[in-house]
Amino acid sequence: MAAIAFLECSRCHHHVSAETPQTLCPLCAGSLYVRYDMDKLRQTASRDDIAARAAASPASLGMWRYASVLPDVTPVTLGEGWTPMLLSKRYPGLYIKEEGANPTGTFKARGLSLAVTMAKHYGLQHLAVPSAGNAAGALAAYAATAGISAHIFMPQDVPFANYLEGVIYGADVTMVDGLISDCARMVAENIKAQREANTPDHQVWFDISTLKEPFRVEGKKTMGYELVEQLGWEYPDAVFYPTGGGVGLIGMWKAFDEMEQLGWIEKGSKRPKMFALQASGCAPVAKAFAEDKPASEFFQNAATFAAGLRVPKPYGDAIILDIVRQSGGKALAFTDEQILASILDWAKHEGIFLSPEGAAATAAYDALLATGELKPTDKVVLFNTGAGLKYTDMTAEAMHLKRPSEKKVVLPRSMPVGGIITPQ
Ligand SMILES: [Zn+2]
Repeated sequence: MAAIAFLECSRCHHHVSAETPQTLCPLCAGSLYVRYDMDKLRQTASRDDIAARAAASPASLGMWRYASVLPDVTPVTLGEGWTPMLLSKRYPGLYIKEEGANPTGTFKARGLSLAVTMAKHYGLQHLAVPSAGNAAGALAAYAATAGISAHIFMPQDVPFANYLEGVIYGADVTMVDGLISDCARMVAENIKAQREANTPDHQVWFDISTLKEPFRVEGKKTMGYELVEQLGWEYPDAVFYPTGGGVGLIGMWKAFDEMEQLGWIEKGSKRPKMFALQASGCAPVAKAFAEDKPASEFFQNAATFAAGLRVPKPYGDAIILDIVRQSGGKALAFTDEQILASILDWAKHEGIFLSPEGAAATAAYDALLATGELKPTDKVVLFNTGAGLKYTDMTAEAMHLKRPSEKKVVLPRSMPVGGIITPQ
């Protein structure tokens, strides 16, 4: 495993020590990246050892196969990562990276496995998170396995599974009449009040929000290593990534940087075009991209059944936009009708039950094929960021299906024809 050299601010490049828990850059409030001694890593970390080591040792389970480029600590793991890369039956160049196979059913497991690992390493006892839903479930699970208390705040209309997993894993769950931005405010207010009341340090909550501590990005970067290894250590032409907070996109770009520095990628390889996909009902990044702005504005009245995309102002918006533009990709948004139609299409024709977020990416793929901007043979890795099964209540509601217990409702025996793909 790799010793952390320092943490580096993504904006002003200020260095911060990783000896104690850190949140944002003390000078400019930029997000912090984990940095290693790359000269040393070039000598100790080899891509050729990875597969053999993973096969030989249960400790190299899942994303921990990349331990040589992750912090040198004892993992808090539930087997996250190394998810299937499924080749589409219909499009010869399209791979679905099935993140629904992670513990807690979503890609959030990667970032929270590493963030909770580090929290345990630092001896933190209370972790708090505002969440659009799935990060809350993942934090609750990893905190439970680490023996740490989790305090989660999420909108009251998240998928019911997110509430249920929170309470089942023993977290302290607050359902909020508002959006993730309101939840973030409540976490910050609680921490401020605890400090003002001179609460002992070990009882003050640590804010483990997206991009407000360095290790969720560090865990999510394994998606970048993984997709490249699974393609035989080559870049695809494009990556399609559903973007709420955008941590994975930022993490993958960091992984590409590191792999190039380590010589794990052939020199002169062209990085993939990064596509950030959103829902029209909450599309701050797509809007800023279309208007050629460096950062997003708070997206008013955010509403979409793709709950994970309901992030009206992502903290890393400027980094996301910069990566998308640098790569030659795009940020695009699709309506709930298009998203639901894509869920039904993929379930029926490929046997894959996409999350609504993943279906924003497949809707984008269809749209770019239709305009000719993309060919079916272009090598594309598209992230299904979560299992569709976590969204049964929201997807059923969008299809106007109700449980039979509700007053003599009779469920159709197969997909009803016509008029059902308009979300309410
Ligand atoms: Zn800074």
